[in-house]
Amino acid sequence: MTRVVVMMGAPGAGKGTQALRLSQELGLPHIATGDLFRENLSKGTPLGEKARGYMNAGQLVPDALVIDMLFDRVSQDDCREGYLLDGFPRTVAQAESLLERLGETPGNGVNLTVVNLVVPDEVIVERASGRLLCRGCDAIYHRTFSPPEGEACDACGGELYQRDDDRAEVVVERLKAYHEQTEPVVAWFQSWSGEPAVTVCEVDGNRKPEEVFEACVDCVKEVA
Ligand code: AMP
Repeated sequence: MTRVVVMMGAPGAGKGTQALRLSQELGLPHIATGDLFRENLSKGTPLGEKARGYMNAGQLVPDALVIDMLFDRVSQDDCREGYLLDGFPRTVAQAESLLERLGETPGNGVNLTVVNLVVPDEVIVERASGRLLCRGCDAIYHRTFSPPEGEACDACGGELYQRDDDRAEVVVERLKAYHEQTEPVVAWFQSWSGEPAVTVCEVDGNRKPEEVFEACVDCVKEVA
């Protein structure tokens, strides 16, 4: 059985933080399309160059680019038993291609769980604008809610930086893209009745990270 977990939620809902912990808890690789794009950007690849303008404007990168990049990544050996997706799918077209691909997965089936983190918009903007990321290990901090002990990353000593697209005006655009294009994906998953079967759990993300984590673990354990 291939285990696939999809973490959904608005930008800044705590998706990245929870996805990283949950992937460790389940022993599944954490595949974040935003991290893959940022890697491509920092290496100056053609894919990174194509994605740059969309990302800096808070818009979604076109489906074809994202889907190719993601499918390439999940074809690697470490994803054979399953993986945890963070930031994908973000459109109904991406969700359709994911399910089509999983439906064709050889072996004894796929167990797909969608965990949807729900956080009010006003909390999102506050969270995103204080967020800091580590260049070394992608760890996530917050200037007020979970500050690092010093200037550098507590985990690896890497440099901390603010994402270009975490500026308040870009967060507003990302939130708009989320409501228009990504929120409908949750309802689409809920209405899906084909193969593979999909279980959708809603988690209140407006609580302490530890409580949110426990709720996420409960969702995926119930399904297992
Ligand atoms: P994230 O780190 O998940 O917030 O992603 C950062 C940015 O990368 C997004 O604002 C989009 O521009 C782009 N991106 C990441 N994942 C996707 C996706 N599944 N579809 C389209 N664009 C994406």
